[in-house]
Amino acid sequence: MEPTLPVRLSPVREVRLALLPDAAETTLPCNLRSRMPTQLVVLVTPIPDYLSSELAKRVYYVSPEIEQFHLVSEGGRVVAVEVTTSVAGDVGELSRKLDLIIAKDVLPQREVEAEVVWSSPHRPRNADGTFAQLAAAGMVAEMGEGIYATGALFHEVLSGLDRRLHDLAVGEFAASAFHYPNLISTDTLRRAGYMSSFPQFLMTASRFRSDVDTYDSFASGVASVDDIGQHIEEHSEHLGYCLPPAMCYHVYQHLQGRGLAEGPIVVTTRGQTFRFESRYRRSLERLWEFTMREVVFIGERTAVAEQRRRLMSAVGDMVTELGLAGQIEVANDPFFFNGQIAEYVRVQRAMELKYELCLPVEHGRSVAAGSFNIHGEKFGSAFGITLADGGAAHSACVGFGLERFAYALFCQHGVDLDAWPDDVRAMLRTSV
Ligand code: ATP
Ligand code: ZN
Ligand code: MG
Repeated sequence: MEPTLPVRLSPVREVRLALLPDAAETTLPCNLRSRMPTQLVVLVTPIPDYLSSELAKRVYYVSPEIEQFHLVSEGGRVVAVEVTTSVAGDVGELSRKLDLIIAKDVLPQREVEAEVVWSSPHRPRNADGTFAQLAAAGMVAEMGEGIYATGALFHEVLSGLDRRLHDLAVGEFAASAFHYPNLISTDTLRRAGYMSSFPQFLMTASRFRSDVDTYDSFASGVASVDDIGQHIEEHSEHLGYCLPPAMCYHVYQHLQGRGLAEGPIVVTTRGQTFRFESRYRRSLERLWEFTMREVVFIGERTAVAEQRRRLMSAVGDMVTELGLAGQIEVANDPFFFNGQIAEYVRVQRAMELKYELCLPVEHGRSVAAGSFNIHGEKFGSAFGITLADGGAAHSACVGFGLERFAYALFCQHGVDLDAWPDDVRAMLRTSV
């Protein structure tokens, strides 16, 4: 039975605009979506409106059946979530799961104010609808949910950006460049604490059990089974590898047990990165598979902090040279399922452990094209990387989402590269 509530159905607009996929990106045709059941899930514990974006970031992870949702706000509090589900779900179960994340992850958080530490001199001048234009021009093609093929022009811009970032890391910070594999050890991610903080993003790699009977049974069922996914699962096992959710974990593993008597180490790497972002996926901004360039600093606390500061400043200059509007702000990670979330977020923001480079991609909306993170001794201690005095080394990492960064360039300069400022094209050394 649908509960009757003295509630005006007033979705929190910013959240809808910011998070719901737009028509071009919905995975289901509108006529099908409109036939799906919509249910009102009343929250046992309403939350203040200022926490609505924290709730909205998590709703799709509550259940894979949720196709769309609106937060229902009344009197300054979010009191219910209106969900559209693929099948008529159990409202009681949805309510239990929503209340679980509200209690664990949302309510413990406080209101935070945006704190800008750098602003580009350029003003935003985005045209909306860039993704649709890139798709219409054949410059991107959807290959799956949050998985895109990109054409030569987009790829050239992405590579040009990456070359600048690589050259900055190697030229100004004496970084060693490494190429790491696409598989990362499960043990590394576990030791790094990734699995307990961000399980919702993680992609594991499995294979068939090494047994001739398994191969035989699997192969003979391939053509006839209804559910190939289930068939694969029944024959598979986890062999200790995952797909990397960031590039820096390779570096900690690579340096494990190392003493840094001869001074700090700087490594830069670029690779394919995987995060399952559920229905939060969006155009080239929020992908399931994307390319990340990272620069990792390992050494003394003050040296690492200074290197992060210098790189942040150099990236600000690069963004200005690229003619982009944008700013660098204090940020925090969206921790999940972790009882200490309030403390993590408070410390991360108060100590300015994470900054994000935010670039406008349409009127009134920006995305983070890069982040600048300090980890204290966390990884030095987890991976036995030590300083000359035997203490754990400190680390910092700076990561750039190359598709996002390149996309922001198209959003701000337009999809026609011929019309881009000459100096920007020269910087990226595009041939067009
Ligand atoms: P967001 O808050 O946007 O989810 P994040 O804090 O999860 O970003 P980081 O873990 O700091 O991101 O990763 C470094 C960079 O990688 C981000 O600043 C962004 O440019 C890029 N990135 C992260 N997730 C994605 C994604 N799903 N698709 C494309 N790029 C991404
Ligand atoms: Zn990192
Ligand atoms: Mg994220």
